[in-house]
Amino acid sequence: MSLSEIYPKSVEILSEILGKENYESIEKYLHVYDGSEASVKPVAKYITIYWVGRACDRMILRTEGEDDIILSQVRDSAVPTIIFRKLKAVYLREFMKLARSQWSRYADVIRKEAGYDKDYNFLSACSIAVGIAGEGKGVVHGRCMRCPVDVLMGATSAGALYNLVSRFQGDAAYALTPSTERRTGTSVDEITYTTIMITERTSEEARRTGGLFSETFVEPATIFVGKVVLPMVSPPELVEVLWLLTRVIRVGARTSIQGTLEIHPVAIIGDLFEVGTAYEVAERLHGEKSLENTRKGILEYVENEAKYSTSSNVIEFTADIAKNIREKLDPLAQEVVVELWKNAMNYVNGVLAYLRQK
Ligand SMILES: [Zn+2]
Repeated sequence: MSLSEIYPKSVEILSEILGKENYESIEKYLHVYDGSEASVKPVAKYITIYWVGRACDRMILRTEGEDDIILSQVRDSAVPTIIFRKLKAVYLREFMKLARSQWSRYADVIRKEAGYDKDYNFLSACSIAVGIAGEGKGVVHGRCMRCPVDVLMGATSAGALYNLVSRFQGDAAYALTPSTERRTGTSVDEITYTTIMITERTSEEARRTGGLFSETFVEPATIFVGKVVLPMVSPPELVEVLWLLTRVIRVGARTSIQGTLEIHPVAIIGDLFEVGTAYEVAERLHGEKSLENTRKGILEYVENEAKYSTSSNVIEFTADIAKNIREKLDPLAQEVVVELWKNAMNYVNGVLAYLRQK
């Protein structure tokens, strides 16, 4: 079956948003899931999306180590880095929220038209929350293994016969400047208002009442470059990812108070494999502080250095495309929602068909 037979609405939206010629150029790198065993076997089809991000306030990028920021060596500097696992966790949460809104609005339609059993309830069957009390403390609640979130972002569950691999992949995002700021604070004893008591006791440890702490932040306006890769992505999944990638996200530790990152997709390209690396872009554009020059630099890199003879056109993410997404892409429109959920069900049916062969 062809893309436009099985996903008519998503194909229409993608052509409208990206432009017909652009859409046709990447079409051969999009994938159809029709429920057959053959459709889930890996083939070489990748959509690569480069983006530029800007820190909009102070951001702590926590690691397990002793400092608050992950640094990478780019040329002669150590630059702040957002590891992909962190970005993926943010987008997993955001996609889960979106899927819950879709389910709340269209549960009956999805059950009927996308083939979910009548007692399946996404809201109770699927969660990425970790138990905070009682017997379930620390346990990640169950994933349903058949919703669009699990099918695109990957999931495992003890109860299922299969695992779902993540088809939302990418590179770490690198800052273009070594912009960090270190702040030190004190936490004082509430009676003496000191961090150390003057007493007979001799050891410093015994006299300590409060303490010093310090935190390292990424400075506001720091520019990051990153890359998302979507292997064997279907049209409705690409529609959702484009919508997610044009939202502002919070990636820092203490997400409720700081860590906002503005993300702007810059270029989309299809190929037999992923195209180029975010690290190479960071090396080339090291020191750049302007968002506009960074955009130009990424486009030049993809067009002149990274792309292959097998690649699609490099689709520049123009202001018009961004505007189209804001104005014409409604991720809660019924036809798109049904195509997305039906696609997930087909994917799972394909995996099950494969298992029965064994
Ligand atoms: Zn699920």
